[in-house]
Amino acid sequence: MAATSAPPPPPTPPPAAVKKTAPAPGPQGLAGLVVIPMATAAKQFVKSLWRPSTIVYPYERLEDPEFRKRVAVQSGRPIGVGEVWDNYRGVHALNIATCISCNLCAFSCPDVCIEMVNVDLGNGKSKKCPEIDYGKCSFCGFCSDACPEGCLTMTSNYTITTNHRSEMVYSPQRMYSIYQTKLPMNPIRQERPVNEDAILLDQDLCIGCNACARDCPTKCITMIDIPKPQPKPGEKLPKRIWKEPMVNDADCVRCGTCISVCPKECLYWGAHP
Ligand code: SF4
Ligand code: SF4
Ligand code: SF4
Repeated sequence: MAATSAPPPPPTPPPAAVKKTAPAPGPQGLAGLVVIPMATAAKQFVKSLWRPSTIVYPYERLEDPEFRKRVAVQSGRPIGVGEVWDNYRGVHALNIATCISCNLCAFSCPDVCIEMVNVDLGNGKSKKCPEIDYGKCSFCGFCSDACPEGCLTMTSNYTITTNHRSEMVYSPQRMYSIYQTKLPMNPIRQERPVNEDAILLDQDLCIGCNACARDCPTKCITMIDIPKPQPKPGEKLPKRIWKEPMVNDADCVRCGTCISVCPKECLYWGAHP
């Protein structure tokens, strides 16, 4: 039996022609070729009588407050200040005192150049703070964006040249000394995203071991008592402590430490209930 032939498909319409907009014509003739370029050059020349367009590095440095002040006085407008320069992503400054050892900086680093190392706080106390290897750092700024306490910021310090690779590893103390110089620092993330997930608990799996509360860097987890059920005849109650974690969401910095230390995998990220 002959198969019924299908009607031929309708012809595809030709693609619409892309309209190209011609660039706006610049000044033509003598004005465009001679007068305007000469006027621009003359303007720059006059400006340079008050302030050169370049700086004499390394004798003059943009991060030097004295130099910035002098340039500001001479030109009425410091180079780059308040523009690109203050957002420069250079060597980090770390405030050891406010670091909560949450590990978010190391976790966010795409180059894996942050290691959490012990810092001696005296009185036999210590805490973990980030150490950064500038031999690997790509100055992306993810770490300082992720830092919930704003204690790890990037500064306008760009001088990291050295003869030895090992000197490119900056200890927390070295970054603290940069913090003390009070260089302009990158703006830090002040507000949380509105759709941020929260820590949720699968109550049936929890054994009340306290590991999450113990390791939470902000101490925002409280172990609360839960009622111990009465077993039915022949029924065995699970072996557990009759407590479960309650997270104070306002203080949680979303570090995920609790999730990673929970031995029963009962904590997870989820939308706010
Ligand atoms: S993200 Fe900030 S608070 Fe957390 S460990 Fe790093 S520097 Fe410390
Ligand atoms: S994610 Fe967990 S460990 Fe980290 S601050 Fe929040 S409750 Fe604490
Ligand atoms: S670490 Fe896990 S099992 Fe232990 S109390 Fe916290 S949520 Fe429960």
